[in-house]
Amino acid sequence: MDSEQLFLDQFEAQSEAEVSWLKKMFVFITQHVCPVLTGPAPPAADELLTGGAVSDVCVSLSVCVVKTLQENMAATHTLPVSYRPMSVSELVSRQHLACVSHLSWSTNQHRVWAREAELSLPGNKALPRVNLLLIGCLREGRGGEWRLMDSSGSIRCECLSPSPQWLNRPVFLPHWNYIPHNASGQDEAGGFMELTGSPVLLCPGPEQGLAAVGGGEGLRAVGVREAAGLLHNRVRGQRLSVCGQVGSVCPLLVVAGTTFFCFTLTEDKHMLPVLVKDSSRLWWSQCVCVGQSVCVTELRVCVLRGWRGNNILCVTDQSEIHTDYTPTHTPVDDTHTEPQSDTPPSVMSHADNNGCEEAEPETDVVQSGVRMKWSRVISYQGTVTEVVSEGAGLYMIDRKVGLCLVYQPSLRRRLRAGDRVELHHVHFLYRPCPDFPPSMLCTCLRSSLRVTGFSRVGLSPPDSACPSDGALPRLLLEKNTGVSEYLWACHLSSRLSHSLVPSVVMRQCVCVLSWRLMEFVWRRGTGGRRDIYSEMLDEPHTCPLAQYSVDPSVPQYLSLSELSQSLQSTCWSSVCLSSLLPPGGSSLTSSQINAALSWSCRTLSSDPRTGETLRRRPLLLVGVLELPSQTSEHKHTLQLRDGAAAVSCVVTETSEEEEGGQRAAFNTAWIGCLVCVQQFTMVTERFLQSDFPSYQHLDQDEFITHKHCRVYLQFSLDHLHILSPSVAMATHLRQRGVESGGDITDRKQTEKTEGGQTAGRKRRRREASSSHSASSVAMTTGPVGVGSWPCVSVVLRVEQKEGVSWRNTGAEVGLTLHFSIRAAVIGPVVSWGRDPKNGPMTDREIEKEKEEKVVQVVLVFSGVSARWFPLLQPGCLYRLTAANTQDPSVLIGCGVSGWSEVELHTDSALQVQSDWRFHTLTRPLLLHTFRQALSPTVLSVSDVLDSSSELVCFQGLVSDRISVNNRTTDSGHTHTGVRLTVCDQSGRSLQVYLDLSHTPYPPGLLPGNTLLLSAFQRRLSRSGGVYCSDSPVSSVSVVSLAQSSSARPPPAPMMHLGLWALSREQRSPVGRVKGHVVCFLFVQLQWSCSLCGSLYTQSCSSSGCPSSSSVFQSKAKLVMDDGTGEAHVWFSDDLVRPLLGLAGSQWEGLQRALRVKGHIRVYPRGRSLVCDADSDNSLLHFLLCVCSSDVVCRSLSLTCRKHNNWRPDEMRTFSRGDRDFMTRTTRPLQLTCLHLDTD
Ligand SMILES: [Zn+2]
Ligand SMILES: [Zn+2]
Repeated sequence: MDSEQLFLDQFEAQSEAEVSWLKKMFVFITQHVCPVLTGPAPPAADELLTGGAVSDVCVSLSVCVVKTLQENMAATHTLPVSYRPMSVSELVSRQHLACVSHLSWSTNQHRVWAREAELSLPGNKALPRVNLLLIGCLREGRGGEWRLMDSSGSIRCECLSPSPQWLNRPVFLPHWNYIPHNASGQDEAGGFMELTGSPVLLCPGPEQGLAAVGGGEGLRAVGVREAAGLLHNRVRGQRLSVCGQVGSVCPLLVVAGTTFFCFTLTEDKHMLPVLVKDSSRLWWSQCVCVGQSVCVTELRVCVLRGWRGNNILCVTDQSEIHTDYTPTHTPVDDTHTEPQSDTPPSVMSHADNNGCEEAEPETDVVQSGVRMKWSRVISYQGTVTEVVSEGAGLYMIDRKVGLCLVYQPSLRRRLRAGDRVELHHVHFLYRPCPDFPPSMLCTCLRSSLRVTGFSRVGLSPPDSACPSDGALPRLLLEKNTGVSEYLWACHLSSRLSHSLVPSVVMRQCVCVLSWRLMEFVWRRGTGGRRDIYSEMLDEPHTCPLAQYSVDPSVPQYLSLSELSQSLQSTCWSSVCLSSLLPPGGSSLTSSQINAALSWSCRTLSSDPRTGETLRRRPLLLVGVLELPSQTSEHKHTLQLRDGAAAVSCVVTETSEEEEGGQRAAFNTAWIGCLVCVQQFTMVTERFLQSDFPSYQHLDQDEFITHKHCRVYLQFSLDHLHILSPSVAMATHLRQRGVESGGDITDRKQTEKTEGGQTAGRKRRRREASSSHSASSVAMTTGPVGVGSWPCVSVVLRVEQKEGVSWRNTGAEVGLTLHFSIRAAVIGPVVSWGRDPKNGPMTDREIEKEKEEKVVQVVLVFSGVSARWFPLLQPGCLYRLTAANTQDPSVLIGCGVSGWSEVELHTDSALQVQSDWRFHTLTRPLLLHTFRQALSPTVLSVSDVLDSSSELVCFQGLVSDRISVNNRTTDSGHTHTGVRLTVCDQSGRSLQVYLDLSHTPYPPGLLPGNTLLLSAFQRRLSRSGGVYCSDSPVSSVSVVSLAQSSSARPPPAPMMHLGLWALSREQRSPVGRVKGHVVCFLFVQLQWSCSLCGSLYTQSCSSSGCPSSSSVFQSKAKLVMDDGTGEAHVWFSDDLVRPLLGLAGSQWEGLQRALRVKGHIRVYPRGRSLVCDADSDNSLLHFLLCVCSSDVVCRSLSLTCRKHNNWRPDEMRTFSRGDRDFMTRTTRPLQLTCLHLDTD
């Protein structure tokens, strides 16, 4: 009888199906399982199996398997005919999807299991179920692996709590997950199994137990306390068996090709370290769990040189481990003498998590706002809810606790969402990095992480955002930075990979870039070397995680789209309209209110320490600097671009001349540089068209007819950190390095001594050159290969730049952007084999003999080429190159053969082509004569006031800005004009009118900024006042930025009344005066219509006026004497109450008392002493008293504007705006008070 029949006879098959299933099982076990048990089978094993002993084994094993299967079925004694036996090799080659198999489950049970999984992890699919039977033998693999083996191959198994007794035994696996390698994206050949339940042993093995240890070869198991004594007195050749509780289990390490791990045995307060280095015992690493009671035999006492020569117990190849499973693990109390006073609960979970949040570890050191904290060592149980970054070793547990595994070697089986984990001796950190959850758990080499339940869901598809973040752990290993810094770099890396990849940098660069930025921002040196044995075994415990820095104000990265979105969205919500009105806004009429609201601006600082900001932390931006694009809103400025958005930037940089002053950006080498911006101002300009009838209606949005805003940044290029220089910037920095000589040699020294206050330029140069040379990855952001083509070039110096404007050039339909510059031609057109870019000037580029007869050329930019506007500045030298040509005539304008013989009388013009490039030549050596710039003299505001020329170029600080509506086009867009008040250091000021109707909107014309206004017309008003207005050739550029939003313009100059009255010209319209009040001439209080300004009592006194709202207006005029002369000073509205020294309640009382009558006028002195006859006597007397009181007639310090419209020989009274002007024949100096200075 053949063995198959023998096998079949053991069972009473109910059907054909069962018979055939039984036959299949028998064949499977014979072919795949028996050969593993009976040793290596010869090639013709099938035939041999029919014979004797082997077939007996097969039959009994098959019977055992089928009976065991029957026992494990939900309905006992049925055959699992729907399950198919599968060999390991078939599983690996055929099963491409992660799956689960549960032999005993009903369909319903599986459904419940899957639903639970998907509910707890929304967005994830539970593993699909397969009906497969896996039967084989559990064996130890390499490096501590456990593997399921059959004759076809083997596969790695992950077990929850494996028993040493499972090894080398035939088993069948009733409950398992299979994770194929392709699903995880790891290079794990053939995937792996997760044994979710214990394997079923198929035949009884030799009984193992503690009893066997006691007898035998005279070995006696000793306790930890006793063994600790033996450890100190090492006896050569002595073997020990030790029983104790596992205190800690360190992760498997591979050092110099040797794999090993350590664990400790404890008893009371005693601790014994055990080293497992023998490759045949590495599989213990999966069996040993913290809290378990174990007995280990045949231990040898060794000296561990790596651990300062301390003695340690070593596992030998005869050692055995006996685990005594107790149903509940009682984790050991932490006996480590940690720096904390309070001992945390031994095992924490999400439920008692609150306890660890409130108990903040105490502060030890405070250094420059950064706190150093001690971490606490705890144990924790929880469920992985998110894989934040597998490569960087970051996870979330229980949705609110972060887990960082990077200080351990990466796990063989990577964690996935849904895994239950148990962590022992893990560091608890509170707020190490503000970008992560406040509670963080970090493992070190002492920590153990054990998976106590495998996830029911498969691996989520690899996050395309951070596939290369594995570079971060490598950098950490190299540099040994702190965990706070590491976490910050990880977060930045994931953010940058969204905002920069792939359009700005390559994916693999993001990690290095983030790391470099972290080092720059945190300014920390590398940490000390890690000592692995001390970290694992020392008492008390020390490791890099013991201390960490907490800096709540570490910069926060914002992508440019986030930045502009939040600026736009908070533009209006952040502002209360009444706050935009000047002081005393409640007394403004309708038209004054609407005019005041039409333009306003908000400036935010990048750093909360220097002003109002967008977020609580300082901000950090990363992007590439570029010329404005065709779609860019602002054509006057460079833009900063990342992968998703671009933001316009008003930029300045330090002047090349060594005064160190700021000027508008001029260096083209910045184009294409990838930079980090940390110090910047965010500007939102608001434009509002409204018909508010009065102050009371400001909260009603229906009176707003149109509103929009413009968002841009302001910063100085000196404050940039170059992450990746453009080719031109690299050239520029190299040149400067050569010029400044010793700079490179003393670099190290300055790095040490410099506290960050050294000139920005020097720092920038050094950082950029180091980032360029030390860069391990090439991050060229400029176009590649452009430099290798032949081209022609000419060197020019810009003499004058015209403003950019919209023009109908006729060449294209509609309006195109247009501007032109006048430039001096420095030398002949030179041809090159390759683009010289901004390389140093050569001799052949200079026309030596013709130096005194400078040829000029007008370069015309229109359309695309107008994008060069932001970087072409008067006084700077540029090399203009035309690529892909060797024909010099393209760069010679009509008639400019000029650089040799022809004498030119008129400027020749040259149309700049779209593919021409300008390169700033920053250090034109050999050009001493040309360095004396011929650019027009830049005047100050005082110079302009005192000058007599018609066209002026001057520089001034903006102290005020209002929008001026162009009355002729009062229909739709009314914001066509701007009036700026600019002043200089002396405080003298000047008003400048700009017509913006034909130009792209110029950003940066803000109070606090200093502007260069070139080719402006100096004009005199009818009354002799000086003001400036723009002309078609005018241009404005921002040369330096407001230091901070609170900086005030210098005070107006101090004036003496006598001298001021004598000066006929309006050279100083605003001044400060200090004098004594002689008397009041006039006080008027009135309720006026908010629309038309007429007297308002119950309604507007003007017939037909629909207004229903009124404003309280006040006016006063007094005589002031400062000893040198007298002046009549006018006060209005919000200045009157403080002038009269009235309290708020008194003022309100006056307003109420005047409701009926509407107005009152008082003439305390003067020609007639007459007041309105029918006035309320008590009110009149009150005001008369006030005006003559000593409190009011006092010394005053005022800022005043001198009246312009002064006509001495006319005798009349007239109204202008809201003021009455009375003229007399001998009229003293007339002033309007702008500001009442408190003494
Ligand atoms: Zn540690
Ligand atoms: Zn009215």
